[in-house]
Amino acid sequence: MTTDPLLSLRGVSKDFGGGVFGLKDIDLDIASGEFVSLLGPSGCGKTTTLRVIAGFEPATAGEVLLNGREIGHLPANRRPVNTVFQDYAVFPHMNVAENVGFGLSVRGTGARETTRRVAEALEMVGLGDKAKRPVAALSGGQRQRVALARAIVCEPQVLLLDEPLSALDASLREQMQVELKNLQNRLGTTFILVTHDQTEALSISDRIVVMNGGQVEQIATPAELYDRPATRFVASFIGTMNLLAGRVTGDGQVESAGFVLPVEGAGALAAGTAVTLGLRPEDLILAPIGAGARLTVKTTVFHGRSLRVIGRLNDGAEVVLDVQRAASAGLPADGGAAALALRPGAGAILLPA
Ligand code: ATP
Repeated sequence: MTTDPLLSLRGVSKDFGGGVFGLKDIDLDIASGEFVSLLGPSGCGKTTTLRVIAGFEPATAGEVLLNGREIGHLPANRRPVNTVFQDYAVFPHMNVAENVGFGLSVRGTGARETTRRVAEALEMVGLGDKAKRPVAALSGGQRQRVALARAIVCEPQVLLLDEPLSALDASLREQMQVELKNLQNRLGTTFILVTHDQTEALSISDRIVVMNGGQVEQIATPAELYDRPATRFVASFIGTMNLLAGRVTGDGQVESAGFVLPVEGAGALAAGTAVTLGLRPEDLILAPIGAGARLTVKTTVFHGRSLRVIGRLNDGAEVVLDVQRAASAGLPADGGAAALALRPGAGAILLPA
């Protein structure tokens, strides 16, 4: 990051007692105006990170800094941070405008300013015409927009979003992802989103923090994570990746199950070093029998424009490849033999064995 971070975690740990560590030594810098997602499997520490930032949970070690100042001692309501939760926690007995204005009235904001800011926030989330509606009469997506408006109306420096879309159905969720991204662009506020959905994280984040077992595995842009996963965990968690056991040959290439491929970084390793080769399904193509690696097709699944082929290589490793339907002429029926090569121009990824 080139600018000074807005929010930093320095060596943050959370020990829940009884040997349960929610977080282990987390370091994280987030710039002003960034959209950052915390992504990882259930129990990896995403929500705990958010709760430590919000002030709902004290860290047992480390510091939380905002603009370079330690805020770990500040109670949640004195931090310039707001949270939107998964279950669109709205007050059911209030109408839309009352819900959105609630936080402002608690802070003693005058009636006129409250009315103006509530109207602005409702416009921002596309509910400008629903101000007087009882929230009980709204759909799930509309309620989540009310929760968003209620959070942004207080103009926090950081907006924390804890799986805000996970209660919505798939198509509404996709639409709301775009809206969330647009909203963040317009506001310029720093957004930190917790999600276990990699597609969601990849599509809306500036950077993604991949977490595993209470630790950070990698922090990178979506494209970097996809193209250059730093660990086996990230490689297998982001998209689909074939992970094949291989060995470095003498000339900077890697040999694996019938493939011999040039791989960036292999030249720096001694010949014979055991490595893992990461190959994306879309980077593999069918080759004439006799060339490339030998493959026995197990299952073919229709994916629209492409066919996902699951097969077995010579050494028994399972491999997944996506064959464009227009290029599927050489594809045998399930049980048949084929050959596999790396698409020209595509790269394999070098990972630890
Ligand atoms: P999910 O996606 O399921 O919400 P998560 O990544 O948000 O998971 P956390 O809720 O942060 O994970 O939990 C991290 C770890 O800390 C888990 O092992 C969890 O069981 C543990 N944990 C979380 N809160 C508490 C608590 N209050 N007391 C004890 N252990 C806790």
